[in-house]
Formats: sequence, structure tokens, C-alpha cells
Amino acid sequence: MEKMKALVKTGKGKGLVEIREVPVPIAKENEVLIKIKAVGVCGTDIHVYRDEMVYNPPVILGHEFTGTIEAVEEKVKGWEKGERVIVEPHLGSCGICRFCRSGLIQLCPQKKGPGWIIDGAMAEYIAVPYHLLHRVPDDMSDEEAGLAEPAAIVANALLDRNPIQAEELVVVLGPGPIGLLAAQIARAYGARKVVLAGVDSDEALRLPLARKLGIDYVVNSQKQDLPALVADLSDGEGADLVIEASGAEQAINQAIDLVRINGRLSVIGIPTRERINVEWTKAVFKAINCDFSFSSSYQSWQRVVSMASRGLVDLKSLITHQAPLEEWESVFKDLQEGRGVKALLLP
Ligand SMILES: [Zn+2]
Ligand SMILES: [Zn+2]
Repeated sequence: MEKMKALVKTGKGKGLVEIREVPVPIAKENEVLIKIKAVGVCGTDIHVYRDEMVYNPPVILGHEFTGTIEAVEEKVKGWEKGERVIVEPHLGSCGICRFCRSGLIQLCPQKKGPGWIIDGAMAEYIAVPYHLLHRVPDDMSDEEAGLAEPAAIVANALLDRNPIQAEELVVVLGPGPIGLLAAQIARAYGARKVVLAGVDSDEALRLPLARKLGIDYVVNSQKQDLPALVADLSDGEGADLVIEASGAEQAINQAIDLVRINGRLSVIGIPTRERINVEWTKAVFKAINCDFSFSSSYQSWQRVVSMASRGLVDLKSLITHQAPLEEWESVFKDLQEGRGVKALLLP
């Protein structure tokens, strides 16, 4: 059996991640084998590393990846060896439940997350069903393709579920990769002004990057008066749309404060605690339209491919690290200590 190197969470507990020699996966009849070129390090990978979420060890980490088709199994049609691809990480979706039959395979209860429930992509190869593939066009680089998954999550929230509307004032809370993508997508698709807010720990890297990306207002809400700025930009009414991209309790309450009466709240950030204190009553009296978005749709992936090809959104500037898989430990450390935005590992 052929072997490959892979980054494996070996057991339950903090840490317990190492490079291992494992068998190259064998593609089934409706699958392709992909040789992985780049795999993004996501908050999810860090949470598994730190033992902060549900996972199923031993398991290969990684779910944000791009590569080339290495082998095509017999029932696969329309794909060839050598094609560059990105992959929706909706493995195990059943095809027969209400959500699958409605075209929402990302919400299938049978879905098994690669990188935490089943083996992921921080390895030399992965085998995936071909119905999850999207073609990477020539004018989309490997780096951009490596960021397709988080971009698709944002596109799903802000173009499919709770679409950006023309000339609105948008506030984004949390300048991580998701917030930086959300601010750019809001601007590209018609917002009048975009405000992106972070905190002191974002001063080193993320807020300067947001300024470089040309976001209209980039604010440290621990130092500057964010509510006053939003009031100023909206005749005192509040933001039309607030995008919560931090998962922090304080930011979630701030979102409820900053949005105008009958405004919209788009929730993408995931709190690390199961229960948080939220001013629910205030949200009710403001008649806030709230959308909890999760994962990514087929259409959002297609949109990301198109927007990357057109250069509408700068994905590449978010990448602060590109390193061989073997250097995972220092990359994980940098990300945890605020010395990175988005990292790609190159198996
Ligand atoms: Zn991710
Ligand atoms: Zn299903």
C-alpha cells in the first residue's frame, strides 16, 4: 500500500497532533483522488488542536484545500486527470434528506466534516466524490483557490441568504479572515460605506491589513468610539446591516446596539462557548432581522470562482504564511498568538 505524509490529530486531548505516514486513500467508484497543493489552516483546525470542539481521532486535519486530479474512478464523468479543483467539504451528505433534495447538501445531518469527523486534507492526497468539485480557472491562482472555502462561507451569508443591498451602511465586527472577506464582499456588491471593527489585539496585523485593502472605516473599538461613528454615518439611525464575524459575546451585543431598527444582522462568527449572554429583549424591540448562516452552498462556490477571476475581491493579501506541511507547528503557534491572518500549508 502506498504511503503519504499527513498531519494527524492522534487522540483526545490538548495538542496530540503530529505528522504521520498513512496509507494514500483509495478513491471509490464515484470519486476522484486529488493531489493537494495547498490547504488553509482554519479556526476549526486550531480548535481541534486545542481540544475545543467535537472530533473523531485519529483524524487528518484540514478542510480548505485545492489541488489537481490525480486519478478518476470509473463512474466519474466530465473530469480528467490534471485538472485544478476546489472542493465543497460536504462529504457524506446523503442525497435523500429534505436538505439534500432541496439543494442544500451543506445542511445535511449526515454530513461528516473532513478534518475533524473524517480524514481531511492536510496530507498529500484526499479522495472525494466528484459531485463536490468546482473547476479552478487559469486566472485563479493556487493561493486564491486555497481561500475559496472561507470566501464561499461569506458569499453564502452575504449573497445567498441575506444579500447585501444597494447603498446600505454595513458594519463588520471581527477582522479575521471571515471579517476581511465580508467587508470586501459588502463593498464589491453595493454597500455605500463599510465599517470594519476590531480590538487591541488586531492592531498589529489585521487592522492595518484592512486599511491596505481599502475598507472605508477601520476601527479599534477599544480605542475609538464605534457607536458614534456609526451614528454619524447614518443620521443617528444605525447600520442597515451588521455582520458578526467574531463570535465574541461583547461583539454580538454590540451588533444588536449598532444595527438600526428593522435592520439586518448576519451571523457568521461561531462562539467557542455553548451559551452566551445576549440582549435578546433589545433585539426583539428593535425588530432586527437576524440570519444565522452556516457553511457554504454550491452557488456561493461558483460566485467565489467568478469574483476571484474578475479580481473583485483580494483573497491573496489575506495570506500571511505559506509553509511546508512539516512546519505546521510554528504556523499554528503564529496564528494562535495573533501573528498571522490566513496560513496555507503546502503538502
Ligand atoms: Zn474553515
Ligand atoms: Zn442529506
